[in-house]
Amino acid sequence: MSVIYDRVALIGLGLVASSMYWAIKRAGLANEVVGFARSEETRATAREIGLCDRVVDSAAEAVQGADLVVLCVPIGAMGAVAKDIAPHLKPGATVSDVGSVKQSVIDAVGPHIPDGVHFVPTHPMAGTEQSGPRSGFAELFDNRWCLIVPHGADEAATARLEEFWHGLGSNTERMEVSHHDLLCAVVSHIPHLIAYTMVGVADDFRRVSDKEVVKFSAGGFRDFTRIAASDPTMWRDVFMTNKEATLEVLGRFTEELFALQRAIRTGDGDHLHAYFTRTRAIRRGIVEAGQDTDAPDFGRSGARK
Ligand code: NAP
Repeated sequence: MSVIYDRVALIGLGLVASSMYWAIKRAGLANEVVGFARSEETRATAREIGLCDRVVDSAAEAVQGADLVVLCVPIGAMGAVAKDIAPHLKPGATVSDVGSVKQSVIDAVGPHIPDGVHFVPTHPMAGTEQSGPRSGFAELFDNRWCLIVPHGADEAATARLEEFWHGLGSNTERMEVSHHDLLCAVVSHIPHLIAYTMVGVADDFRRVSDKEVVKFSAGGFRDFTRIAASDPTMWRDVFMTNKEATLEVLGRFTEELFALQRAIRTGDGDHLHAYFTRTRAIRRGIVEAGQDTDAPDFGRSGARK
């Protein structure tokens, strides 16, 4: 792979940014990657582990001369960061973000992007429950999907960013904003909410039945606990900013749950069997599409953001 951007700036140095850095280096996609994180502690860690060619002490300095700037901070912080960097962006540069919700990021970031700078939002559909500068790895995006939400952005800038994501190992698909937010509510946001809820319920039971829930936790519950260990700030922001879509999906989920509850109460085994047969087929489709590398378990890259 060859160089796609001379200089890339990563703002925020957590799981996604650090994985991007290692993947950029693996494929030689940039001549220089400059990084910035808000805390001195994270910047010191980044310098210690060689994360980024240069780690600088302000977002403004990081974006100077950068051809691509990627905002890798929590969704709720995107607007403030965009405002901070706006006066320092290079004309012709592309600003992108990796936030898990797109409409709110577009609303928060878009107004700060100066004329002559392209804004192309993205969302890599890959992650783990880990966070911070030490959590990244070059393979995170391999064979995963990165959703591109151009929202009227310049075609050449969009195509270049797509090529960059291919270089990071991802497949890409362009998507309209509201479709993105609804899709992600279905495949990621509500599954996380369910995991958080189930672990909360089990925690309540643990108080009743001592430590048995943890001691005897079988595969299903263990997987819920892994998902429910995801970063609280990130997930708070997801539900604060994707309210409409998550409430819609949650409404549908609750209806289905009530139907299953009724089937259990009335002993309607046919209903349960038919339902589980349908969902089993969906699982097979995901494995066959290569979207769960840890199959047959609900593995590392399963129900993530
Ligand atoms: P992370 O590991 O928790 O790292 C977040 C980074 O943002 C850290 O460098 C942190 O700085 C910085 N930050 C936190 N709050 C900030 C604020 N208020 N202002 C400025 N900087 C702030 O997060 P991540 O998992 O990489 O997620 C980053 C973005 O990617 C989020 O928007 C998320 O929705 C999206 N995303 C995440 C995943 C996933 O699986 N985690 C997948 C796809 C997309 P300090 O270290 O100095 O505190």
